[in-house]
Amino acid sequence: MSRVAVVTGSNKGIGLEIVRGLCKQFDGIVYLTARNEKLGQEAVQKLKSEGLNASFHQLDITNEQSIQALKQHLQDKHGGLDVLVNNAGFAYKGADTTPFGTQAVDSVGINFFGTMALSKALLPMVRPHGRVVNVSSQVSQMAIKKCSAELQARFRDRSMQEEELVTLLNKFIETAKAGKHKENGFADSAYGMSKIGVTVLTFIQAREMEKDSREDILVNCLCPGWCKTDMAGDKAPRTAAEGADTAIFLAFIKPKESQGQFFYNRKPIEF
Ligand code: NDP
Repeated sequence: MSRVAVVTGSNKGIGLEIVRGLCKQFDGIVYLTARNEKLGQEAVQKLKSEGLNASFHQLDITNEQSIQALKQHLQDKHGGLDVLVNNAGFAYKGADTTPFGTQAVDSVGINFFGTMALSKALLPMVRPHGRVVNVSSQVSQMAIKKCSAELQARFRDRSMQEEELVTLLNKFIETAKAGKHKENGFADSAYGMSKIGVTVLTFIQAREMEKDSREDILVNCLCPGWCKTDMAGDKAPRTAAEGADTAIFLAFIKPKESQGQFFYNRKPIEF
């Protein structure tokens, strides 16, 4: 049976570069996924013109039907998967005037709840020796420092359960809608809070994998660095391909090399 890799949000930016890298290095089938089918197919064709073969599947990580359709496809066609890169993400631009409460709903909704929903569907299908790579951001490190001491301790508690994380992020959304998130101890950054969610979720998933009967499944997260993409703009110093490097590195780490760590430039760093 072929090995299978899936990259979310990979019609452009860092996700597309992760797919490009995996097409060159991964011994198996690489799925380029996108919420917009046309954009996804165009990206697959672009890779094809470079001699690289990616398969396409539609995926919107905020749409349960779309998640279940991918899950069913992977189950029917491959019986599971071996590498999952949770790359899909969203950020409002700094100058955006959308109310903060809406920014909190959208940012946490896509980056945290979307990543969690897809993970819940696909992690049970990851085969032994699989690798799960969550694309977070060092903005989560900045945001946690802006949270109250009490919340910092909760987010850094390595025994935190998923239910508590969900409760805290829902509380962030609700207080953000009321303009009271700061007085409730949360950082004044919707994207930052959403990426705290992704980072802490990684630690939780890694601990769950340690208890799992499947052998050697490693879950880690990373910051790609500030990269020139539609999200981050032209001023960023890194290329999207440079940003993809650590994600690709984590897709190939050796058994026991790292579990539940936050990586930057291929090295674990503190959260
Ligand atoms: P881009 O905006 O270039 O790409 C984001 C990708 O995610 C797009 O393919 C987008 O699809 C997709 N996406 C958005 N929402 C959804 C959804 N609901 N379901 C599925 N896919 C979705 O951003 P980057 O390449 O810069 O970002 C990739 C990841 O890296 C993100 O998680 C981001 O937070 C993280 N990151 C980026 C940094 C940077 O400097 N660029 C720094 C730190 C972290 P569509 O084209 O349809 O919008």
